[in-house]
Amino acid sequence: MSESAQRELIVELAKSMFERGLTFGSSGNISIRVDDGWLMTPTGTSMDRLDPARLSKLDEAGRHIAGDAPTKEAFLHRCCYDVRENAGAVVHLHSTHSVAVSCLEEIDHSDVLPALTAYYVMRVGKLPLVPYFAPGDVALAEAVKGLMSESHAVLLANHGPVVVGKSLEDAVYAIEELEETARLYLLLQGQRTRPLTPQQVSDLRAKFPS
Ligand code: ZN
Repeated sequence: MSESAQRELIVELAKSMFERGLTFGSSGNISIRVDDGWLMTPTGTSMDRLDPARLSKLDEAGRHIAGDAPTKEAFLHRCCYDVRENAGAVVHLHSTHSVAVSCLEEIDHSDVLPALTAYYVMRVGKLPLVPYFAPGDVALAEAVKGLMSESHAVLLANHGPVVVGKSLEDAVYAIEELEETARLYLLLQGQRTRPLTPQQVSDLRAKFPS
């Protein structure tokens, strides 16, 4: 895909997520790997009003070389590319239901959401919780790297999800599946629930390796 097509795709998918309430204000950010570096959404810009020509361009070393200044959360994206060799894109949102789950007291920090549906298992799989760090704390980068090495999706406590995909479409589909599963999980609170069995999960993983 040409860089101009990649720019158009970022704008299209960002607007789509914004219009469906997955992101709001100037929150959320997207990056995509291009031949000579990365494209990233700029800081302080709403996802429904991105300009393909003004997306931030970073070189192979992560230096900002063109377009508007990148998101302040650019370091989160760099962590993902550092530890996941086949990462083609990264999406990070402050999507409501995922953030709500990240604030719950009694969740399994090694894998936050149960395997409620086959598509959750296929698109997300495992979701470790990254402990809370204040914005700008460099320790967050190390914590994300550690957990991102074992799963292509992580949930930042009291903050939101970060998801890596081989392509931007893959990352968007996965983060949308994660958000919907978080919503289901909250809907089912207080009710006896029957998630997929460990055998059903391992059968899916064997049939649809990520
Ligand atoms: Zn964030």
